[in-house]
Order: sequence, then C-alpha cells, then structure tokens
Amino acid sequence: MRYQIYALHNYRQIPQIDKLSEEDKFNIEVVGSVLPFKTNNYVVDELIDWDNYKEDPIFILNFPQKNMLDEADFNHMAKLIKSNADKATIKEEANIIREKLNPHPAGQLEYNVPELNGVKLTGVQHKYNETMLFFPAQGQTCHAYCTFCFRWPQFTNMDEMKFAMKEIESVIAYLKEHTEITDVLITGGDPMVMKGKIIDHYLTSLIEANIPHLRNIRIGSKTLGFWPYRYLTDEDAEVVLNAFKKVTDAGLSLAFMAHFNHYRELETETVQNAIKKIRATGAQIRTQSPLLNNINAKPEIWSKMWQKQVQLGLIPYYMFIARDTGAQKYFGVTLADAWEIFQKAYTRVSGICRTVRGPSMSCTPGKVRIIGITEVKGEKSFVLEFIQGRNSNWVARPFFAKYSAKALWMDDLKPAFNQEEFFFEEELSDMFLG
Ligand SMILES: *Cc1c(COP(=O)(O)O)cnc(C)c1O
Ligand code: SF4
Repeated sequence: MRYQIYALHNYRQIPQIDKLSEEDKFNIEVVGSVLPFKTNNYVVDELIDWDNYKEDPIFILNFPQKNMLDEADFNHMAKLIKSNADKATIKEEANIIREKLNPHPAGQLEYNVPELNGVKLTGVQHKYNETMLFFPAQGQTCHAYCTFCFRWPQFTNMDEMKFAMKEIESVIAYLKEHTEITDVLITGGDPMVMKGKIIDHYLTSLIEANIPHLRNIRIGSKTLGFWPYRYLTDEDAEVVLNAFKKVTDAGLSLAFMAHFNHYRELETETVQNAIKKIRATGAQIRTQSPLLNNINAKPEIWSKMWQKQVQLGLIPYYMFIARDTGAQKYFGVTLADAWEIFQKAYTRVSGICRTVRGPSMSCTPGKVRIIGITEVKGEKSFVLEFIQGRNSNWVARPFFAKYSAKALWMDDLKPAFNQEEFFFEEELSDMFLG
C-alpha cells in the first residue's frame, strides 16, 4: 500500500471529505493552524467511520475539533483565516496560543537530560534508574498526529528539535558508564517512521556493543494504529522485521510498546497481520494509551480493548492520565472519573488482562498511580503510589491526597489529613535546587 499523507494543505482531497459539513471543514482549518494535523490513507480508508464522523473516535484522534481551542482563541484564529491574513501573521498568532497550552509539561526539557564527560546528551533522557530513553533524530515525526499529543511542539516547528540525537555512539558510551540501566526505550515522535536501514543500524549497534547489563530494548510506536503497512508492504518492511529478529536472536528481549487508543484500531485485517509479523520475530508487544475524554472515556471501551489485545497476543501495560498540555480541556478526565473507569474496566476482564497498570500520571516526581478512593475516619481521599520515582525508594509506598472531584492532575492535589506536604516533596525540591 502506498502511504499518502493528508494535512492542512491537501486534506480536501480525502475521498470521503464531502461527508463533512462546510462548517466542520472550516473548524479543521482554524484549529489545525494551531494544533498539529496530519493523517493518512490507512486511517482515512480503513479506520474512520465517515457516516458517523462527528462521534467517531479515530476521526477525533486525527482531525482537529472546534472545542480543542478556547472559544476566544478559536474566534481570533477564525477571524484571521476568514480575512485571508498572511501566513506569517497566522503562524505568529498560532504560536501565542500554543505558548498558553503548556507545551513542555513535567520539566521534560530541563530536568532529565544527562551528561557524558561534561557534555549534555540532548536526545537522551535518564529519569528512572533502570531505563534510558533515546530519541533518534530521524524519528521525530509520526505517520499521523494525535490531536492530544504532548510532543506537539516538536511537530509544529515551535522550537528546534531539542529531543533529538543523531549518533548512537554517545548513547552506547553513556550506557557503558551506567551499569544500573537495563532497558533502552527508543522513542520519538515515532521511531518506526525511520528508514529500515537506520533502524537496523541503531539496533545492530546496540547488540554489537555487547553491554552486559543491557537486557531489554523497547520501541515505543503508534505504527500498528496508524500505519501497519510498515510491517507488510513498505519496501523495507523485511529489513525492519529482520532487525527485530537480530535483537531477540542475540538474547535480548525486544518489547514493542504499542500505542492503541481504541479497540477499533485492533479490528482491521491489516493490523492483525502486522501484529503476527512482529510477534514472529520473537518481539513481545505491550500496549499503552492515555485515557481521553471524547475518545475512550468509558469502561466498556477499555475492557473490550484489553480483551482484544490479549486475544491477539499483546500484553496490556499502561493506562495514562492525559497530560496537562495542549487540548487538555477537551481530552481531560478528572482523577476521580479516571479511577472509576479503570476500576470498572479492570473488574470486567479476567486476570490475564490485569497486567495493565494505571491510571497513572507522568509528572515531575515520577509516575503516580491512583490506587483508589477511600475514606479514613470520615475524610475522603485518593490513595496513590509511585510506579516509578525519581528516587526509586519512593516506589510502592501508598500515600494519601485530599479528595477533589475536580482535580485533573497531580498539581491539583493537596496532601490529606492536614499534612503540610507529600512525603517526597522536600527531597524533590532538594534534587532541583541541588
Ligand atoms: C515511563 C517511563 C519510563 C519507563 O518506565 P517503566 O516503569 O520501566 O515502564 C522511563 N522513562 C521515563 C521518562 C518514563 O516516563
Ligand atoms: S503517535 Fe505519539 S508522538 Fe505521534 S502524535 Fe501520537 S501521541 Fe504524539
């Protein structure tokens, strides 16, 4: 299958586009000038139900929606576009709105960039002891863009690619020095947009470096959802699959961390064939998704998704809470609702699906999971725990936050029982003030 991109400049060529009202097309143009917009012929032809596009989860996942912007911002951009403002003005005004949308949440840029011999390794993050993230330069885009994505500054040219790294040698040198690292997670954007020979080069280099403490290579990717032909008909599909096989043949585990937001993405014959191809290399596929209002904020969607995944041989891994960035007002689910959706979905599936962990927030101190909502001596509270911590000693210790029906993110929470601060806060601020 030939890969055909649709974005702002050519989306009117989508064969099904006449199903949309003129108003909805205009909304796409207004919101798409601020938030990233890109989709492709697989998503358009095999995933979206065009007769029901207004409610369709995959349509909402890729096509900008009016309510993703504040009304005032929407009206401002709409006016500019209607008056045929020049491109530079539109870009400038869009950037002002983007800056208001918290484009760099959880200190992504400032706190996690490690150094090697005094030189900052941009393109690497090392936040948790065992796992290093690697952002290869050629993988800083995706086969389509999720409208909720928190990596969107990378796609909208807001700033230079601060997360990208070209050379695997520095990654390997860093790994050799850090014997606590057992996992490398290759991420993006989507690293599977890279050419097969580059993927092969990175994986082969990691294998040949023969690092005794390196056990697991993970690849975070949305390709199974957005372009499963990557493993079927792309001309270098076999090169990619072969590179995967080299990893498992070398005795390392290869975990393909697949990003699926809705069970619909698991239903096509195309994706099911791609899954078989990847699994045949000896790679394991684990799955993750944020919980998203307007896309998957119902327990039935999650239970069905996990069951379908397990049936196809995939292992449910994470349910995330949508980050405090971008169109969070549109996608955000309160922490109270998130836990309820998780609990209802989790109790409807058999133990084999309960490998999933969540709902969890990736924030500055770590990954914080909501264990539940409870009442202690008349005070309603959230029970929380770290599933990853900037200090690993924080992990798996239950702690309490005052219940709030409105809280959407960690920053909205206060300690329960009149405590001044959470148990980790002093240590956390020491880490950053040094
Ligand atoms: C989630 C995450 C990891 C991986 O954590 P695991 O618990 O091993 O899955 C590593 N680094 C960062 C920055 C993360 O957010
Ligand atoms: S696939 Fe991942 S990185 Fe790409 S747009 Fe979606 S969430 Fe963002």
